[in-house]
Amino acid sequence: MTAAARLPRSIRNPYRVPRPAVISFSGGRTSSYMLKKIVDAYGGQLPSDIAVVYANTAMERPETLEFVDRCSREWRIDIVWVEYLWDAPHRTRVVDFATASRNGEPYAALIDRKGFVPSISIRYCSGFLKRDRIESYARHWLGLKRWHAVIGLRADEQRRVLRMRAMNCGSRTGAHAVLPLADAGARQAAVLDWWKRQPFDLGIPSYAGNCTLCMLKGRAKLIRLIRADPTLADWWIEQEAKVANRTGPDGRACESMKRFRLGETYAELKAAALDHRDLFDDAAASPGENAESDSFDCHCTD
Ligand code: SF4
Repeated sequence: MTAAARLPRSIRNPYRVPRPAVISFSGGRTSSYMLKKIVDAYGGQLPSDIAVVYANTAMERPETLEFVDRCSREWRIDIVWVEYLWDAPHRTRVVDFATASRNGEPYAALIDRKGFVPSISIRYCSGFLKRDRIESYARHWLGLKRWHAVIGLRADEQRRVLRMRAMNCGSRTGAHAVLPLADAGARQAAVLDWWKRQPFDLGIPSYAGNCTLCMLKGRAKLIRLIRADPTLADWWIEQEAKVANRTGPDGRACESMKRFRLGETYAELKAAALDHRDLFDDAAASPGENAESDSFDCHCTD
């Protein structure tokens, strides 16, 4: 072992992530910034024991899918696309840019299977649609028993970083979380500034990333997104309608299993968004809103 290799990783380049590693690529600016830094740290080419995996919920915007594909082509990186599919081996379907679902099919199928919608309190979507699919790929396709799960949490997302370090996301499964952005002190401003100097970009505001109207986005952001494209709400309304008669284990009505967001259905949210007497909501949804104002789960990073 060289003297440099004996140094703690934080003193070495944090982007030279320990291996074998599986990078969770979310298709956002932060995660792609991290990916490029890792590629650069390895001299422009990832070693064969570092994989990059994008878990497609099919509720991301088309711009996100195009961005994932563009990053792959521009930086000459193999990005593996995976989706949830109950009947597939290990519940995981390997797809690509051309064959990926685009109308929420994996997410809707998961809701059908569960019989209730995820919510802020029971947020099963991220685990099933992203974390488990990436871990499944690592274990069954790559044959790994233990690996480093590289996740794009920044230094300015301290609550999430601390939570992730505390639970070391997925360690029971063999995945050991590594957070190079947090280790490197990379903050949102630096990421956005870096992207301004690149020849291509995501093309949508960061708050429009991940699933279109994720219940973890603040209400003001949801209102703004629906105003810009009212049809975005329809899939979410449809999912809530499917479980409208859902009851709890004791047979009584259980509101939290029928709604993504407590206190307001997506039909009500859409009506509020289109009610122009409510225009002041819009002002609160600034694109520069602190990233921690929304509490995304570990594999739903920017
Ligand atoms: S972005 Fe939101 S809705 Fe989509 S998987 Fe993550 S937590 Fe669930």
